[in-house]
Amino acid sequence: MADRIFLSHPASLRHDTGPHPECAARMVAIEERLERDGWHGFERREAPRVDRALLERCHDPGHVAALERLCAAGGGHIDVDTFASAGSWEAALRAAGGAVAAADALARGEVEFAFAAGRPPGHHATRTRAMGFCLFNNVALAALHAQSVHGLERVLIFDWDVHHGNGTNDLFHDTDAVLYVSIHESPLYPGTGPASDRGSGAGEGYTMNLPVPAGSGDEAFLRLVAERVVPAARDYAPQLILISAGYDAHAEDPLANCTMSSAGYGRMTAAMRRLAGELGAPLGVVLEGGYALDALADSVAATLAALSADQDA
Ligand SMILES: [Zn+2]
Repeated sequence: MADRIFLSHPASLRHDTGPHPECAARMVAIEERLERDGWHGFERREAPRVDRALLERCHDPGHVAALERLCAAGGGHIDVDTFASAGSWEAALRAAGGAVAAADALARGEVEFAFAAGRPPGHHATRTRAMGFCLFNNVALAALHAQSVHGLERVLIFDWDVHHGNGTNDLFHDTDAVLYVSIHESPLYPGTGPASDRGSGAGEGYTMNLPVPAGSGDEAFLRLVAERVVPAARDYAPQLILISAGYDAHAEDPLANCTMSSAGYGRMTAAMRRLAGELGAPLGVVLEGGYALDALADSVAATLAALSADQDA
């Protein structure tokens, strides 16, 4: 049995956003590239639908029902840049379900590494609303499942998408059960995530926002991982590590202004893999953004390669 799994579902292609950077061609580019690479030893699995009760615990049931109705009616705009089509309901259930299934396999010790490649992405989705191309918060649902079904008390979510994951930040703002760490370009959409936002109540100190200026690249991101993310994770001792993996800090990405390389994503993954090994925690990667198709495919491939290489390679 493979110790690494890749979860996706063809329904992700039916989330039809029209002429939009968050498009089905992203998934095609990723899967064509990985097919050529032999999937880096990852076993492919079909992403299941997310459990409705879990969905309604993470999100306001009214938000869930409104999205279901909108898709059943053929879809439409939710905000200026967030769109749902008739096929988006199934795509969103599978994107969330893939992330949850990844966390499930990791938490039960069945696999060491998992990559959940769904769309729409999730980290901007709040408890009550879809925004920023995101309908349901896939990575948050994965963390909640690990807590509620597997009893995990500490989950690290490291969000390296170039945008701040405001939805994830807010969902776990007042709890110490999730350490949320984000590196993001600032100023940039959605405008949240100053370093001064460190959580609230019992969650004070369990949110770590690391904004970086436009132009930041591999060295800036890798330095923050080494100097901030890894030490904070060691102190926290997570039982599960989830990466909210957007690839839009890439130099070629049209929606942001950072200068990461595909190899840099591989190095960042390798650093997180070493951390996971040191802490004895399984590692799951959940796809978020990334809009330059070749750069996205290369960077996802670099991530999988880093999780399949010999440990000290
Ligand atoms: Zn993004």
